[in-house]
Amino acid sequence: GCNYGLPLSSPVSTRKEAGGQRISVCVRKRPLTYAENRRGEADVVTAHDGDSVVVHESKEAVDLTQYILQHRFNYDEVFGEESSNVDVYLKTAFPLIQHVLNGGKATCFAYGQTGAGKTHTMLGCPPQRQGLYALAARDIFTQLHSTQDCGNSTVPSHVYVYVSFFEIYCGQLYDLLDCRKRLFAREDGHQVVQIAGLREVKVESVNSLLEVILWGTGERTQGVSGVNPVSSRSHALLQIQLRDSGNRATGKMSFVDLAGSERAADSRDPDRLSRMEGAEINQSLLALKECIRSLDQEQSHTPFRQSKLTQVLKDSFVGDSKTCMIANVSPSHLATKHTLNTLRYADRVKELGGGGGRRRPTVTPSPSPKHDQTSSSGTSASRG
Ligand code: ADP
Ligand code: MG
Repeated sequence: GCNYGLPLSSPVSTRKEAGGQRISVCVRKRPLTYAENRRGEADVVTAHDGDSVVVHESKEAVDLTQYILQHRFNYDEVFGEESSNVDVYLKTAFPLIQHVLNGGKATCFAYGQTGAGKTHTMLGCPPQRQGLYALAARDIFTQLHSTQDCGNSTVPSHVYVYVSFFEIYCGQLYDLLDCRKRLFAREDGHQVVQIAGLREVKVESVNSLLEVILWGTGERTQGVSGVNPVSSRSHALLQIQLRDSGNRATGKMSFVDLAGSERAADSRDPDRLSRMEGAEINQSLLALKECIRSLDQEQSHTPFRQSKLTQVLKDSFVGDSKTCMIANVSPSHLATKHTLNTLRYADRVKELGGGGGRRRPTVTPSPSPKHDQTSSSGTSASRG
């Protein structure tokens, strides 16, 4: 495993932590894959200075000459293709873990088009390359064990870890830890959304948590038959729930591997089912954006009822909950349109937050062609 040896008692301070922000929006660019390199696809995305990203969009003028538009966006963090899951973890989910151990709620979303790296980030390729699920679980167990040993922390002395894993497909819930059993979410008398019958598995180590996750992931891909893997059309929600000895919920960390964002644009798909799926995904991603924004602005009204996704995450959009969004993008010139859509979405999530210092996206024509489909745009795909 990877040993980055950072004590949880001195959490990495990030810019937004210092400013007390509750949402952070980050971008992760993956490297060109081996196959993309072989096909000669160009890398048109450049990560700069840890917080900005530039997309070099190839355009054709009326006289058929080619020119390049440079789109620059700024976020809380931008991870280039050389960054590892551990690098991403330390600046995204890690700052949320202490909040969860103190009884709070936090959510980490992976957003982006199919193939952009959402599952690579969240799940990784365990056990060799762990993703955010395992890295977070490891820190939760380490911290619980160390505080339970020396008893000098704010974490209650007996805290138990439970995991649930379900997916939302076409607005319906399926339990990935219970043979894809259909589940129903309801608001109880205290306006708390409950998922009746959701299976929660008690886990006592990172390895047993990983086993549970891998089991659920297997359920995920077997799902409904069809041309496209169901995983690109559904949202997967992994929740790590902490409970005290009285079985009271104390803190909750949710990870959401969202449906492929390109599916939200499938409104003209000739296939009726695809259109329906696309409309549902579109609705949930719009609602998600609004709910995160309202959390950031401490609005009294959160439109969480607008989709099943936001409804089941209701408790993550209220109170002192914290949220992190990781927008994943592909570097390939063939994905430029979807990459720009993803970056614009992530930008809108942040739009009203972050105070007056926010830098707006810019578009500038490039004086000389940045890429001609054969250059590597000055960024070599290094795999760490
Ligand atoms: P998504 O879940 O968004 O559809 P995946 O995570 O399955 O995308 O990634 C698509 C492909 O790209 C996979 O083969 C994956 O291993 C590879 N990949 C994604 N992100 C990275 C990365 N940061 N470094 C190396 N390979 C990556
Ligand atoms: Mg995936």
